[in-house]
Amino acid sequence: MKSDVDVVVVGAGSAGLSAAKTILAQGCTVQVLEAKDRIGGRATTLDLSGMPWDPGAYWLHHSEDNFFAKYAAESGVQFDEMPRSSRMWTATGWADEAIMAERDAYFDAAFEAIDKMGAAGVDVPASEVIPTHPRFQSMFSTWYAALSGAEPEFCSTLDQSRYRDGVNLRVKPGYGALLAAYGADVPVALSTPVERIVWDKSGVRVETIKGAITCRAIIVTASTAVLARGGIKFEPALPAAYQDALERLPLGTAEKVALAFDRDVFGLADNSHVQFEHQGEETVRFQIKPGGYHIAIGYLAGRFAEQLEKQGTAAMVDFAEGQLVKAFGADIRKARIGADTSHWRSDPYIGGGYSYAVPGAAGVRDTLTNPINERIFFAGEACSLPHFGTVNGANETGFAAAAAVLLALT
Ligand SMILES: Cc1cc2nc3c(=O)[nH]c(=O)nc-3n(C[C@H](O)[C@H](O)[C@H](O)COP(=O)(O)OP(=O)(O)OC[C@H]3O[C@@H](n4cnc5c(N)ncnc54)[C@H](O)[C@@H]3O)c2cc1C
Repeated sequence: MKSDVDVVVVGAGSAGLSAAKTILAQGCTVQVLEAKDRIGGRATTLDLSGMPWDPGAYWLHHSEDNFFAKYAAESGVQFDEMPRSSRMWTATGWADEAIMAERDAYFDAAFEAIDKMGAAGVDVPASEVIPTHPRFQSMFSTWYAALSGAEPEFCSTLDQSRYRDGVNLRVKPGYGALLAAYGADVPVALSTPVERIVWDKSGVRVETIKGAITCRAIIVTASTAVLARGGIKFEPALPAAYQDALERLPLGTAEKVALAFDRDVFGLADNSHVQFEHQGEETVRFQIKPGGYHIAIGYLAGRFAEQLEKQGTAAMVDFAEGQLVKAFGADIRKARIGADTSHWRSDPYIGGGYSYAVPGAAGVRDTLTNPINERIFFAGEACSLPHFGTVNGANETGFAAAAAVLLALT
């Protein structure tokens, strides 16, 4: 097969952009094909009533060795202040320090139990190992869903225990804006969904809605949700182990609701966290005045987020605003000047929040990092062992896949 370019990269998110940049830097030719009309994937910054907000990635996780934290610092991008306070609204008002300490101690114990099992190589549902708590167990479950996209009963202890946490930072213009600047010089064909990848020992033919392109190797960074449901057809079909890996790394649900106000209706410090004590699954957690803007960003996750997202924007906004009203009073409704929501779950090119390994499947992230016939390489957040579900993890896998491709092509 004669090649139009050395490498095609499918997807212009964190993984795809870094993969393309690495290959270009080594003098090979690259074409990135992106289904959307913008780059950044699950990291994008939007405008709401003149204020920036990130419907997807927002935190620069593990800033100690997060490539984008270094890139932001070197580019002179301003970092944001960290949250000043974390509050919980209860049936009788704001929780006092003793209640918060009790909740925090239980959350720590629950994570320790998961880590302990994972460290021992036990790969069972996280819900099976967490201790019970009469007051805060539901809150742990929904918090876990916010971190993983799914409740503890759906997630592997071993997978969770492999995740490496660190110091989280944020940048004032937004994570999406940072990625947009980072990827500005990458050759990306936008609005070009890939439909089919035909591969054999001699090369790869990539069919898009706008025509076909041939290459020596391909890096596929579309989400596991897109790939598992056959959003891109492979011919011949992917080996069974890869299809199995994609299916056992589903995307959970993570969605956001942004509410903009014409003034400070909260009376809290900028960058405060607010949550609501709850039983069951119906809840939303807020960042209040992130970056000092008169905006509240609600985070919805897990099964409840899935149901609410299906109901649409108005239902998401109503629920989020209704929760804020409990703590800040009905007058905030009069000060609201805008609202917006994400819809990652129903986005045909994303399909959810971020990947989690189902119980028994912690090992399958490794499967995806093995190339097929030195022609098809996978990258993206689901391929990262220590930083799955993050922009920095995706970025690391983009670098790794590019290095592997370059080796294979020499
Ligand atoms: C609500 C939410 C909050 C989050 N918060 C954080 C956070 O604070 N910090 C953090 O680090 N991470 C966060 N994440 C996770 C983070 O956004 C992702 O892990 C990361 O952006 C994934 O990057 P990626 O390159 O693997 O995939 P993506 O960003 O999904 O990129 C893949 C690209 O492939 C494209 N594509 C799909 N199908 C096709 C096709 N057929 N043809 C061509 N292109 C295609 C997609 O359009 C997409 O642009 C959050 C995610 C969500 C949803």
